[in-house]
Amino acid sequence: MRILISGASVAGPLTAYWLSRYGHAVTVVEKAPELRKAGGHAVDLFSPAVEIARRTGVLDQIKDRRTHVDLLSFRRPGDPRPAELRTDRLIGDHVEIMRDDLSEILYEAGRDHVDYVFGDSIAAVDGRSVTFEKRPPEEFDLVIGADGLHSNVRRLVFGPVPDHWIGAYIAVMTLTDHPGPPGRVDGVVDVNRMAAIYHDPANARGLFLFRTPAPVDYHHRDVERQKSLVRDHFADLGHEVPWLLDRLGTTPAFYFDAVTQLRMDTWSKGRVTLVGDAGYCPGPAVGGSTSLAMVGAYVLAGELSRFADPAHAFASYEGELAEYVRRSRTFAIGAARRLVPGSERALRTTVYGTRLLNRLPGPLVRLLTASSVGSRVHTSYRLKDY
Ligand SMILES: Cc1cc2nc3c(=O)[nH]c(=O)nc-3n(C[C@H](O)[C@H](O)[C@H](O)COP(=O)(O)OP(=O)(O)OC[C@H]3O[C@@H](n4cnc5c(N)ncnc54)[C@H](O)[C@@H]3O)c2cc1C
Repeated sequence: MRILISGASVAGPLTAYWLSRYGHAVTVVEKAPELRKAGGHAVDLFSPAVEIARRTGVLDQIKDRRTHVDLLSFRRPGDPRPAELRTDRLIGDHVEIMRDDLSEILYEAGRDHVDYVFGDSIAAVDGRSVTFEKRPPEEFDLVIGADGLHSNVRRLVFGPVPDHWIGAYIAVMTLTDHPGPPGRVDGVVDVNRMAAIYHDPANARGLFLFRTPAPVDYHHRDVERQKSLVRDHFADLGHEVPWLLDRLGTTPAFYFDAVTQLRMDTWSKGRVTLVGDAGYCPGPAVGGSTSLAMVGAYVLAGELSRFADPAHAFASYEGELAEYVRRSRTFAIGAARRLVPGSERALRTTVYGTRLLNRLPGPLVRLLTASSVGSRVHTSYRLKDY
């Protein structure tokens, strides 16, 4: 079949890799002028995604480029004594890698067999006929939207779909310098907001997370407005924050999004389906969305290899993923609440809990975290062999 995929981040290149391996002719159209090699923070690959990386033949590359956070160090405003946690005490069963590195590895894995088109976007889908913003129209047997939380394909094919804001905002900026030793995260955590620096010579990042009582008004492409929201929410927070805010104007890459989830009952319509955040984003930063996107990509391509009729493949793909999607959403709602403390009491519990975890024996901490709900949601999915 001739298959068109919109979006070249994580879900798009991985779906393209597997579909071309199953013998399909695949084109990926990406709106950005080139692969988005900068932007965003580290993402977590849990065991099913790690296994998919192994089957894709890229696990060694992913492990070579994994990030190394050895120490998390957080302070409350005005408190000189940080709460510190050595990460070797946490779960060992996942790999953390910068989103842009993962995207590049998946793109490189398939690029010789996939036709990548950068700097364009789908304008309309009508049966097999696809119109683009720039290039001439073409015919495709299937169209797959892998174009993220603000998916263009979803808008064109399903119309407006409500998203569900779960209370927080995330901003990440790439840093060209960093003041601390590599391998540590230094941050400040306050009621409803936290900011941190990830010190790493190759991948330094500044991270902001904040909660507001109601959704904030901004457009997802209006970067200046997003930066001013960050300034407004963090201006009076001391420690590392003034240093970070100084770099906001000159950062080479800035990512901002609402921690929002999609709750569609179905992600497929006719010859079109959605994969990754475009169809079932549980929320950036809180729900293991990258692992879910990798599982979705692998399962979608696998189901298309099993059925001659795409309608059967799409139904089977949705059935395979439904429970994992549902559990990821539920987990993400709780995680969004826990990630940034919402009261003085919750803040004290976070700081106290971190100090306590650091003092408990390592095996006990690993046991506690490995049996946590989050870990179970993301590791319990059983991959099929296709
Ligand atoms: C630059 C960037 C930074 C990110 N940083 C973080 C982070 O720090 N923390 C976190 O939890 N998650 C982050 N994410 C989201 C994370 O990558 C996803 O939640 C997850 O990996 C699932 O990926 P996905 O491929 O489904 O969607 P995404 O990673 O969102 O990728 C969607 C892709 O579609 C492209 N696209 C959008 N519109 C169109 C269009 N009209 N036509 C063609 N292509 C289009 C985008 O440019 C992008 O390449 C980031 C995403 C991006 C794009």
